[in-house]
Amino acid sequence: MTQEIGGFAALDLHPQILAAVSAVGYEEPSPIQAQSIPVILAGHDMIGQAQTGTGKTAAFALPLLSRLDPARREPQVLILTPTRELALQVATAFETYSKQMSGVGVVAVYGGAPMGPQLKALRQGAQIIVATPGRLCDHLRRDEKLLSTVERLVLDEADEMLKLGFMDDLEVIFQAIPEGRQTVLFSATLPPSIRSIAERHLKEPKHVKIAAKTQTVSRIDQAHLLIHADQKVGAVLRLLEVEEFDALIAFVRTKQATLDLASALEAKGYKAAALNGDIAQNQRERVIESLKDGRLDIVVATDVAARGIDVPRITHVLNVDMPYDPESYVHRIGRTGRAGRDGRALLLVTPRERRMLQVIERVTGQAVAEVRLPNAQQVLDARIKKLIGGLTPLVADAETSHGELLDRLITEIGCSPRALASALLRKATNGQSLNLADVEREQPLVPGASAPRERRERAPGDVRERRAPMPLAEGRVRCRTALGARDGIAAKNLLGAILNEGGLAREAIGRIQIRETFSLVELPEEGLERLLGKLKDTRVAGKSLKLRRYRED
Ligand code: AMP
Repeated sequence: MTQEIGGFAALDLHPQILAAVSAVGYEEPSPIQAQSIPVILAGHDMIGQAQTGTGKTAAFALPLLSRLDPARREPQVLILTPTRELALQVATAFETYSKQMSGVGVVAVYGGAPMGPQLKALRQGAQIIVATPGRLCDHLRRDEKLLSTVERLVLDEADEMLKLGFMDDLEVIFQAIPEGRQTVLFSATLPPSIRSIAERHLKEPKHVKIAAKTQTVSRIDQAHLLIHADQKVGAVLRLLEVEEFDALIAFVRTKQATLDLASALEAKGYKAAALNGDIAQNQRERVIESLKDGRLDIVVATDVAARGIDVPRITHVLNVDMPYDPESYVHRIGRTGRAGRDGRALLLVTPRERRMLQVIERVTGQAVAEVRLPNAQQVLDARIKKLIGGLTPLVADAETSHGELLDRLITEIGCSPRALASALLRKATNGQSLNLADVEREQPLVPGASAPRERRERAPGDVRERRAPMPLAEGRVRCRTALGARDGIAAKNLLGAILNEGGLAREAIGRIQIRETFSLVELPEEGLERLLGKLKDTRVAGKSLKLRRYRED
């Protein structure tokens, strides 16, 4: 266990932080982490040129937590982010990485939510504040001493903050933090406005950026799909239906993700296995041998575990999670196109990772075309094509070998040859749907088939910033089920189940949000108890729905 976190262990992080990193299943530091962590631990100011997807959050969170004093119950670390989504994400990351430490408090401060609870959390002695600049300035106006104990400041996605018009707020915040602080600035780009901030507010900063030397990629057909993080498993299942692969390697970032995806694939009948740093060497070799000789078709691996895999059968590389840098992307996709064969590489990109895609394209000098998820019709066509491919060689001698038996079956069952063929087909396909309506129903995901769009926090002054994040229509409440994307659930499935079994009109049901491990559905408040009673025994995708009223506060 300790062996594969050797990379992290060498970084001088606090033992409790190392334990947390090991618990989340990271196998080795990403390049930006390997470079930034020692610099931040040493107390230097730093400019990090890195985009989302490089592991930049942990690059500052791990060393900052290592240097935190949990016994001091006052703000010590301030992270500024451009959007509330990012603030929440960063705050969650801090909570995850500080799980093994006691007495560490993190508070997220952002617009669009009431100030009261944020203030309360601040007063309860949180040491880490993750904030959007606009809202933090609102708090500062009420309490100008709020940041007087802060010792370390991180500007995350500094270029985005400037684009959103937060320059003046940043200046106010700089003034509110004592001189002598450590300042770390992360930005995907370094336009003059960012350099000027760095010149005025950072002291002899060290520069850190991921290597971007040109990489060559040949004979590999590359494509990407825009997808929300919580739709990844569904997207992979759908892609695999239409991609004609021989063997495939899917890359994810954590050990847990290798296990989760491999079992989702196995459940769909694929010959799949996980490969991660926890798997013993001899077992690892068995997995690779099985992939070579066709006992396995899919391996779901982390970068570390996939090192050195050379299996000529691999026709496809599926990047389910983004690689940390272009070099690792090129490395990953080099697993296909071996021995002079052509290969195909697919990359799933979440809205926040689009920048990373651009970097990959720049460094490799190749465009990675956008493709859409196959629709139900394409999935059906692929299934039928496979069926024809499988049946054709069998049909040649079928009549002579089973002619008499067929006559007997038709007579004994008392059915037409068509009905018999149809029944056999259903058996042969293991119940897999072969008509469009069924495929549409069974296909997980994609509420609103368009590419996902990022939500931003508004610039200060924009009235929309003050609104609740996702207002409910009047008379509606949110309900939650523990079924999510990882259970193969799609909005359509939930909608279908609630419409059918709850006897509601379509208009009565509001937004449906599918997350990885749970889903939220907006339902009418009136008659809710009765409705939940009706749905008590409802099952979706073979699992119990168990819908409950969800209280946000
Ligand atoms: P970020 O670039 O900070 O948005 O991080 C992107 C994703 O990478 C997050 O989901 C992290 O949990 C994950 N991540 C960060 N560092 C590592 C690591 N060393 N190993 C595996 N996953 C990581």
